[in-house]
Amino acid sequence: MTLPVHAAEPTPTRVGADATPARAHLLHDGTVEDYRRAVAAGVDRVARRVAEVDGPFTGVRPADLAPVVDAIDLDRPLGDTTAALDELEDVYLRDAVWFHHPRYLAHLNCPVVIPALLGEAVLSAVNSSLDTWDQSAGGTLIERRLVDWTAARIGLGPAADGVFTSGGTQSNLHALLLAREEALAGADPADRRMLLPQLRIIASAAGHFSVQKAAKLLGLAPDAVVTVETGPDRRMRPGAVRHEITRCRRAGLRVMAVVATAGTTDFGTIDPLDGIGEVCADTGVWLHVDAAYGCGLLVSPTRRHLLDGIERADSVTVDFHKSFFQPVSSSALVVRDRRVLRHATWHADYLNPARAVAERIPNQVDKSLQTTRRFDALKLWLTLRIMGPDAVGALFDEVCDRADEAWDLVAADPRFEVATRSPLSTVVFRWVPAGAGRELADQANLHARAALAASGLAVVAGTRVDGRQHLKFTLLNPATTRDDVAAVLDLIAEHAGRYVHDHAAALPVPASAAGLTCPVG
Ligand SMILES: *Cc1c(COP(=O)(O)O)cnc(C)c1O
Repeated sequence: MTLPVHAAEPTPTRVGADATPARAHLLHDGTVEDYRRAVAAGVDRVARRVAEVDGPFTGVRPADLAPVVDAIDLDRPLGDTTAALDELEDVYLRDAVWFHHPRYLAHLNCPVVIPALLGEAVLSAVNSSLDTWDQSAGGTLIERRLVDWTAARIGLGPAADGVFTSGGTQSNLHALLLAREEALAGADPADRRMLLPQLRIIASAAGHFSVQKAAKLLGLAPDAVVTVETGPDRRMRPGAVRHEITRCRRAGLRVMAVVATAGTTDFGTIDPLDGIGEVCADTGVWLHVDAAYGCGLLVSPTRRHLLDGIERADSVTVDFHKSFFQPVSSSALVVRDRRVLRHATWHADYLNPARAVAERIPNQVDKSLQTTRRFDALKLWLTLRIMGPDAVGALFDEVCDRADEAWDLVAADPRFEVATRSPLSTVVFRWVPAGAGRELADQANLHARAALAASGLAVVAGTRVDGRQHLKFTLLNPATTRDDVAAVLDLIAEHAGRYVHDHAAALPVPASAAGLTCPVG
């Protein structure tokens, strides 16, 4: 075995009287030119890729890419920006999944606006940490203005407040922590132990799984989330919510929150917020609205009314990194009554002593689950300052319009069957082979999705609806045209049809139906 040659070479430790080579990599007054060059080189690589990618994905498989990544010796630096960027092309950029491509139709990932990318570049270089004023200064004030702006858009009233978070999952956890503490307010430790297993959260069956996860993290009972079945419209009925609250209370349980969803992840449907808000007001239950997806409507010039009733919420999750065209991560939790945020407060002598509150020093860590925290708000700030809210809303409107057209297209196509129509930008559907059995049809839809991704021509999502395998478009790219949608539908039908053709004989298909599917030969 031979050792790599360089391992034996002594590395010079000093290049000048006071600078080690390592120090030359730090951003400081002596390295600003290197900083400019390095970041510009990185931006240039991305720009070139973006200009030339001709599909949303290359279809690379983990087995192809893992050896390339694994082969890199992390203890042997290249020592050169260009070489590292060349390598990055191989391990990442060439096979990245590109959300700006008009045939990326899968998940809730958006193409990003340039003002936000500018914000990202600024915030990571300045590297403010939004936990305390003494680590962020103006950053804290900017975040607070944006929280206030969001709360005003929601209509939460003068006592509202909130904080930026890493994403909808964290926002939901945070909201439910506050709701739990409000439900247990005044309980002594012994009472808390007794009450904790009795707490219940009422949520839609179409709600996001992070609600279940939050319940688990919050130490609630395994059956703490009571899911309310939705009708075919995938919306939670206010009457059903009221019924569940009554049922829980009769059973001696305590409902700590109702979670309504403004934009379900799978269907893009919006629960009747006004009606559910009324039930919550009547019954004195905390209303959390998960608007991780639907929050883009807050700036929509034509569709804001779809969120009517959201102003009744006690807490709201918004994911700017979904429908505000912001890079990951950018999310916030907003609450009606700022006092509830104290449930996440802990005073540490070294960081945010209680004294600071009296001195009115704005320390956002008092409201956050995180300590060191990115200045993600800057991206939204520059987006609003450069584009303005109407322009963001117009982009979201465009994708909702496009989804409307796509739904019509799929609904009119005998090769497919559509599920629930979304007021947002989701289209859930399945390919229906004429007469093929249930199992085969499910397999064909699964296969079409995988084959499409492997081809790199388009990426779509999948989900199960009432036990049947479906496909899903989540349209968040205004560049996606009706033709793109039509072309992807053709590709799906082609892949699924070929699958049925190849597998029809292998599966027990009703004899009467098998022959109808496609010619045998
Ligand atoms: C995406 C989503 C979440 C989770 O948000 P992340 O930012 O991915 O953590 C929560 N709720 C809904 C309705 C979502 O669509």
